[in-house]
Amino acid sequence: MSKSNVLLIGSGGREHAIAWKLNQSPLLNRLFIAPGNAGTASVGTNVSVSGNDFESIKKFVLQNHIDLVVVGPEEPLVKGIHDFFLDDGLLKNLPVIGPQKAGAELEGSKDFAKQFMIRHGIPTGAYQTFTKETLTEGLNFLQTLKAPFVLKADGLAAGKGVVICQSISEAEAELTDMLANQKFGKASEMVVIEEFLDGIELSAFAITNGREYLVLPVAKDYKRIGEGDSGPNTGGMGSISPVPFAGKEFMQKVEDRVIRPTIEGLLKDGIPYQGFLFFGLMNVKGDPFVIEYNVRLGDPETESILPRIKTDLLEIFLACANGTLSEIKLETDERTAACVMIVSGGYPGDYAKVKVITDFESVHKSLVFHAGTGSKDGQVISSGGRVIAVTSLADNLKAAVAMSLESASKIKFENSYFRNDIGKDLM
Ligand code: AMP
Repeated sequence: MSKSNVLLIGSGGREHAIAWKLNQSPLLNRLFIAPGNAGTASVGTNVSVSGNDFESIKKFVLQNHIDLVVVGPEEPLVKGIHDFFLDDGLLKNLPVIGPQKAGAELEGSKDFAKQFMIRHGIPTGAYQTFTKETLTEGLNFLQTLKAPFVLKADGLAAGKGVVICQSISEAEAELTDMLANQKFGKASEMVVIEEFLDGIELSAFAITNGREYLVLPVAKDYKRIGEGDSGPNTGGMGSISPVPFAGKEFMQKVEDRVIRPTIEGLLKDGIPYQGFLFFGLMNVKGDPFVIEYNVRLGDPETESILPRIKTDLLEIFLACANGTLSEIKLETDERTAACVMIVSGGYPGDYAKVKVITDFESVHKSLVFHAGTGSKDGQVISSGGRVIAVTSLADNLKAAVAMSLESASKIKFENSYFRNDIGKDLM
């Protein structure tokens, strides 16, 4: 069997983890990452092309005989990279892991996602959507709800588009700001006001080709910057997998009530879908409700779920594209993975970039995934707020977290910070 050349699009910790896993595949010939980071350069070849520059991606794909494209982040998907391939005579037969624009709307528009869930009977909080023209109705609708109030900008807002208000006056001001003042630009031209769901969050994942699917390990991420889940939201400060409160019975409900109905719903609606589905869930007294869909893997959930997957990831991708996904039986590592994210001090506010990162060689017991890093003069430097993800596998959560914390404390750069309490709420 001929080996595959793979192009992976993205530059974060998620992409380093995907690249690390693909690089272990006997089915792989060459792996390219566009644009990648200092970590992906150790498991493949970085290409300085942005995933949003479709013409340059095309050129690279043709010149380098790429057999498979894997799209890490949501932006190129929502912008239609998969459609671009299908519309191009030279690229149309090349498999792309990542949905077309129509499917990416599950993440690209909260209103679309809510309508989809209601249409297909997928459990989610009650909601209504408002625009600038219906602001008054929106303000009146708030009066009918009880605190806390959940306001969601319809479009992509770099993870900042969801605001939870504790008082009615705060909610009124926020709704006005989003709709009348376009607080999140185009993303808040529509705002979803949603019932507050009181429970504990987790993330479920599947890969699908629109007919078959494979459920991947479940994870929980830690979004707030501060310990004890305090302070502003971030892209994610750590993750664990599996999730102690998501046992067999609960996960069966997730598959029966959420995962399968979503894939069947896409099929019924005539929306083709090849790629990952990420279900942001709330466990409300043992029942799953969908808070959000994402159309790609999560970051830093990927850094704790991929190390637990024993099955060849490239084999999974090829089976997804070839229509043989149902023949794959996912083999997982029963151990617990814990990922701790090291960030630049100040993040998610202003932070210093370009700090030299050292002492990688002192980490022996953990996997080190680069997030916001680059290379300069032969050194690894920081280039983003979230810098390094450290993942450890152990027989229990406590031991996995302890290993990751020990490793995280060994990696050095000026003004670095990480949370010491990842997973503590579940120990
Ligand atoms: P999202 O960007 O949709 O993941 O939302 C960000 C965060 O807001 C989620 O991780 C939840 O913590 C919270 N959230 C979103 N929707 C709800 C809801 N309906 N009830 C309670 N919390 C929510």
